[in-house]
Amino acid sequence: MAYGFKSLEGLQPGMVALVGIPFDKNSSFLKGTALAPPIIRDTLNAGSTNLCTENGIDLTNHTHFHDIGDIQFLSRENERDIIEQSIEYLLKHKFHVLSLGGDHAITYPIVRAYNKNFDNIAILHLDAHPDFYDEFDGNRYSHACPFARIMEERLASRLVQVGIRTMNHHQQEQAERFGAEVVDMREWQRGINLTFDEPVYISLDMDVLDPAFAPGVSHHEPGGLSTRDVLTLIQDIDVPIIGADIVEFNPKRDLFDMTAMVAAKFVKEIAGKMIENNTRDTQELTHW
Ligand code: MN
Ligand code: MN
Repeated sequence: MAYGFKSLEGLQPGMVALVGIPFDKNSSFLKGTALAPPIIRDTLNAGSTNLCTENGIDLTNHTHFHDIGDIQFLSRENERDIIEQSIEYLLKHKFHVLSLGGDHAITYPIVRAYNKNFDNIAILHLDAHPDFYDEFDGNRYSHACPFARIMEERLASRLVQVGIRTMNHHQQEQAERFGAEVVDMREWQRGINLTFDEPVYISLDMDVLDPAFAPGVSHHEPGGLSTRDVLTLIQDIDVPIIGADIVEFNPKRDLFDMTAMVAAKFVKEIAGKMIENNTRDTQELTHW
């Protein structure tokens, strides 16, 4: 099957396609996030919870939610191209892609694929880090750089970053150059109202959470959001959510599968919100 995916036959346009991207070559500090997709999947299906979302959707055998497996990297030379092409292939089927990283470097090729299919995209980027470095340790495709690449190529019309708490001078300059809207943790308040006009792509770095909620990340950065804060931000979005990624879960750093369960919860709630918003008024999806 193409790119290692399961058969897409009979799957509905507009459905949420859950895709694993087991790739962590661009992690600067620790490897391990490539191990995340099967662990999140197993946690989701382990039987300790159900597949019902807080907005009342049961994802069990739901026509608009399907796990199509992991991208396979048969060539080690051009993984970025493989990610971009495989996401493009899924967008041609008119799926909404919910991907499981992998480190945050995967977001750049994913958003490149989205840009070919959508005129205007707002990105909601949840992260302790702005990921705006022009290069990091000599690597322009490091997981510290994806939003520099995305904004240089004007792949998104708007970038809203929430949870930031490691801004330095260089990245502050980059944020201003790219017109990013940054809500850093110092000014964070519960109930903050983010409004979007364009369809939204969510990029969720697990280290946006305080390490107390999610110890299984490579870069512990205390003073972050709670699981509930992130769920509320997602649940408050009232425009179509055309895609999302959940990145930077590093199982090698996890304790008692705590972070795996938080990632699985995010899969459920993002998928539930995508289904609610994208099929709200009609089964026809007007934004394609
Ligand atoms: Mn990140
Ligand atoms: Mn981060």
